[in-house]
Amino acid sequence: MANEIYFVNDVTNTIYNTQLPQAIIKFAQFDLSFFMGQAIEFGERAIESGEYPLKDSYIIRDLLKKAHPYIAANISSKYDKIVIDCIIENICRTQETGESSLWNRYISPKTELERMIFMRLSEYKCNRAANEWLDIVRLQEYTRDKLNFIFKGTKNITDANIKKNYFDLTFSVIARELGCSDKDLGKIPSYNKSLLPNSVFMLSRMSKEIYKTISAEIEDIPLLNTPKFPEDRLSDQISMDIYSYMRRLSPPLDTELGWIRSMFGEIEETIYKPAGFKPLLDLEFDKILSNNILLQSCHQCEQYFEHSINYTGEYCNTCRENSSPSTEEPISHDLNKRCKEIHSLVKTNIGKQIDKHEFEEWEQYLNSMKTNIKKNYATPDELEKFLEYTQRMYSDITSQE
Ligand SMILES: [Zn+2]
Repeated sequence: MANEIYFVNDVTNTIYNTQLPQAIIKFAQFDLSFFMGQAIEFGERAIESGEYPLKDSYIIRDLLKKAHPYIAANISSKYDKIVIDCIIENICRTQETGESSLWNRYISPKTELERMIFMRLSEYKCNRAANEWLDIVRLQEYTRDKLNFIFKGTKNITDANIKKNYFDLTFSVIARELGCSDKDLGKIPSYNKSLLPNSVFMLSRMSKEIYKTISAEIEDIPLLNTPKFPEDRLSDQISMDIYSYMRRLSPPLDTELGWIRSMFGEIEETIYKPAGFKPLLDLEFDKILSNNILLQSCHQCEQYFEHSINYTGEYCNTCRENSSPSTEEPISHDLNKRCKEIHSLVKTNIGKQIDKHEFEEWEQYLNSMKTNIKKNYATPDELEKFLEYTQRMYSDITSQE
């Protein structure tokens, strides 16, 4: 599916994905104050009891997983101490004190919470960590502002693109004026699945098979003497030294391709490795526009929703339905009728272009789409598109008969 971005992180061998444009819209409107309230309460209990129950802190930490797939992917690494970060931010804000005076205050901690705060502040002090809570709050504001900047009152994709470029270039101009270079700002390199930094572990079974076929070639080869501080300009040389061992590789036989394919599993197109949250958010904006998705802000609740040619009004789905509290069925009579027609069209194709299993899958998809519309997770528009697509797939065959 083109409407998603695949990404990985440093700590797991998992490929994550983020949906366009839903992830960004959800993050922009995610209620962070609930997490904040829980974290502060947890801090108050920890002061009273002198204890710091880790398990409880993780339950609160995990509340943020729903804010954005990037946060979910990094919840037990980068965001592991986010509850403490939030408590620190709250103390500094409400007591009008700075991080260094707080660090001084807890230099000989009396409770577990004080010890945790002191340790975390020490990490900030030597630049080993940042206050991730504060960053998420600021990144949410960034996302809201960028959404408004690009899409508010914007009538077409071309204009949206110009505004986006203007926004990003302004950021670059300021970064340069502040003396920040490329290395200070998070990058987002992209890879194919097999060239990912940890592809050997992600595709471990296939890697082992490959190893077997080349083991004679690479037996007893000395380790490459790579520089301790890698320089980009040496990378071609290093890569070609590696390649010299696979020059005699021949492609697998046609008869082998089946099992090799199954070992690879699904091959996602491009996989990104964001060095920070901001670069991934920026990429989401880029992809939303390159996929020709125009967002529109709701006149009533200001939430963004996908512009559709079938709807020229100014209200999001939720507001549209709330404003007309009729007992009208979410799926109109006509649409229901079309569902039945297309259903029987596909059914007559069983054993021709579709097998029974595929048909059942298709049927299940149709049913869950209908349920989702009733629950407000999907729109009749989307169902309409799905039916159109299905019809295009199967009508040719039927008409040939
Ligand atoms: Zn609305």
